[in-house]
Amino acid sequence: MTDSQPKSGLTETHSVYTSLRSAFMSTTPLAPSSPAGHPVYVIGAGPGGLAVAAALRARGVRAVVLERSDAVGASWRAHYDRLRLHTTRRLSALPGLKMPRSFGRWVARADVVRYLEKYAEKHELEIVTGVEVFRVERAGADWVLHATGGRRLTGRAVVVATGFNHTPRVPEWPGLDRYEGELSHAREYRHPGPYAGKDVLVVGIGNTGAEIAADLAEGGAGRVRLAVRTVPHIVRRTTAGWPAQRTGILVRRLPTGLVDRMGALMARAGTPDLSAYGLPRPDTGLATRMREGAVPVQDVGLIDAVRAGKVGIVAAVEAFEGGEVVLADGTRIAPDAVIAATGYRRALEPLVGHLNVLDDRGRPVAHGPRSPREAPGLYFTGFTNPISGMFRELAIDAEKIARRIARTTGRGQKREMPL
Ligand SMILES: Cc1cc2nc3c(=O)[nH]c(=O)nc-3n(C[C@H](O)[C@H](O)[C@H](O)COP(=O)(O)OP(=O)(O)OC[C@H]3O[C@@H](n4cnc5c(N)ncnc54)[C@H](O)[C@@H]3O)c2cc1C
Repeated sequence: MTDSQPKSGLTETHSVYTSLRSAFMSTTPLAPSSPAGHPVYVIGAGPGGLAVAAALRARGVRAVVLERSDAVGASWRAHYDRLRLHTTRRLSALPGLKMPRSFGRWVARADVVRYLEKYAEKHELEIVTGVEVFRVERAGADWVLHATGGRRLTGRAVVVATGFNHTPRVPEWPGLDRYEGELSHAREYRHPGPYAGKDVLVVGIGNTGAEIAADLAEGGAGRVRLAVRTVPHIVRRTTAGWPAQRTGILVRRLPTGLVDRMGALMARAGTPDLSAYGLPRPDTGLATRMREGAVPVQDVGLIDAVRAGKVGIVAAVEAFEGGEVVLADGTRIAPDAVIAATGYRRALEPLVGHLNVLDDRGRPVAHGPRSPREAPGLYFTGFTNPISGMFRELAIDAEKIARRIARTTGRGQKREMPL
């Protein structure tokens, strides 16, 4: 299935943003000021940026979304084919547009893309594609954005929505620069086809690594091994029809120790002991791990694949030597292909690092409706990884950010957004 196939009531739309782009780009090197002054610039046309733009528009605030790729939802266009939201359809909708029932409970990747296209059209968002913002600078009470083609765009506020999973991260393993085998990052993985019959090592047991390993095992790879540094918490997507996401929402504000104990009880009741296969239960609690930034793995096939011996668990990768991969237990293996599911960097440093608004992990010091003290009018959305579901949090933050911006710019009457 491709992203452009009409399905489920959301037909392929005339792209509002493309025509706006040509109007914008051909006539104005600088963004035109609205009667109320400069627009609010939103950087990034993923779900986070689109939701903020729609919420601003609903309050009468002009928002212009700048997107470096050529379409909305670039991250979702690039994800692997079999991906579905592991958060429910209902709890993943953005403000002002439900996801159609026909999408089912677990929305397919291509339907997420279709939804985002429809979202932009429905809310008549001003989106300029093909424009990357390189640097944001303060200019009195306003902000200046340095963007593609030497543009200098002045905004009265800026919302950074460039994504938690921005730039693929591959560890600096010793010997990697001399490794002669095939190595790619999980972002490049689309489907198991190219790996048919091959011996594949997937590195990293986050949600992405776990699902890619299962996909390869089900899709005809000759041998699949999954390299694990820290055993994760593995949870079922649903238990007796109850989605894990709802539990995540309920326990989110409970004390860490309590959630750790509840998580251990639920794990014993809900997921089998995989110790014999190299995946013992973690000795650190689920909520404690969340605080350290590690989200639980939602099982979408890994447990069955491991128990069936279709995915072998091996020690973490330590180094590369010639054509071999050296594992933490000293084992040396020579897979045909290595897929590094080793995460992403926020990569906010070039954009806003000079503004003193990032912590030592490169994350914004303030999030959602709060601006960093040093940078009033600069907002960030999408830079947390909540157990309650990111789409849900993006939707909540969009309303809060829009309310705050509308208030500080003297607007604030929200008109109802049609559903
Ligand atoms: C594999 C995977 C599965 C996920 N599944 C779920 C799920 O089931 N449920 C859930 O709630 N969350 C899920 N998430 C988490 C999250 O909801 C998504 O990553 C979501 O796309 C985040 O939205 P965003 O708008 O913050 O970032 P993105 O969707 O990444 O959008 C950022 C946009 O900004 C653009 N951009 C970046 N830099 C610039 C720049 N300098 N100038 C202009 N444009 C720029 C990018 O091209 C991109 O279009 C998943 C994430 C991943 C990686």
